[in-house]
This record gives sequence, C-alpha cells and structure tokens, in this order.
Amino acid sequence: MKNKMNTISLESKRKEEKALIASMIGIYCKGNGHDGKHEGILCPECQALLSYAYQKIDKCPFMETKTFCSTCTVHCYRADMQEQIRRVMKYAGPRMLFVHPVPAVKHMINTVAAILKKRKETRKE
Ligand code: SF4
Ligand SMILES: [Zn+2]
Repeated sequence: MKNKMNTISLESKRKEEKALIASMIGIYCKGNGHDGKHEGILCPECQALLSYAYQKIDKCPFMETKTFCSTCTVHCYRADMQEQIRRVMKYAGPRMLFVHPVPAVKHMINTVAAILKKRKETRKE
C-alpha cells in the first residue's frame, strides 16, 4: 500500500514538474517570437528542449527527494541543453509570477533555499 502511495506521489511530482517546465518553455518561446505557428505550439528548437527535459524528468534518480532541476547539484543535462534551459529559466522565471503564481513562488522559494544551503556547505569546507 505504502509503495503504491509512493508511486502515485512520485508520478504526481513528475507531472507537476513537467507542467512547470512546459509552461516556462512556452513563455520563453512565445515571448521571443520563435516560429511556433499557433498558441501553445512550440518552435522545433523549444519542442526538442521540452522533449529532452521530459526524458530527464522520467529518468531522474532524485525524484523522491529533489525539488526542481534548477536546484540540482548534479545537473545531468548535456551542456548545450543546460545552456538553453538556463536561458529559459532566466527569461520565464519572473514572468511566471503573472501567469502561474503558485508554482512560480514555490520554485523561487526552493531555488533560494538551495542557494543558501550550498553557501552554508561551502562555508563549512
Ligand atoms: S538535473 Fe538533477 S534533478 Fe534534474 S533531472 Fe537531472 S539529475 Fe534529476
Ligand atoms: Zn521556441
């Protein structure tokens, strides 16, 4: 029973993270005038980035304990994809506040907490 519950919450966590990343890439793609032909349709480059991010979320070994990829210390993304996702986060992060305020605030809190934790660990070394 407990395992079934864990599987369900892991799945909902994956779903939540996929929805968040899809919104952010959508904001970035639309806001930068890429050639996605219709509302909600991404340009090929952003679509490839989204599919790549979905694959990573599906295979992430830290899904049970992690918050968001942006706070991960491993970062399993290929260098070019990491650079693209970094650009997406920078652009879409502040704009998410107006479109999806709850996940945006959650994301901000987790990011700040991860930065503070990292600083604390660095100071100890
Ligand atoms: S970057 Fe980190 S948290 Fe994100 S999918 Fe890769 S290993 Fe998991
Ligand atoms: Zn795009």
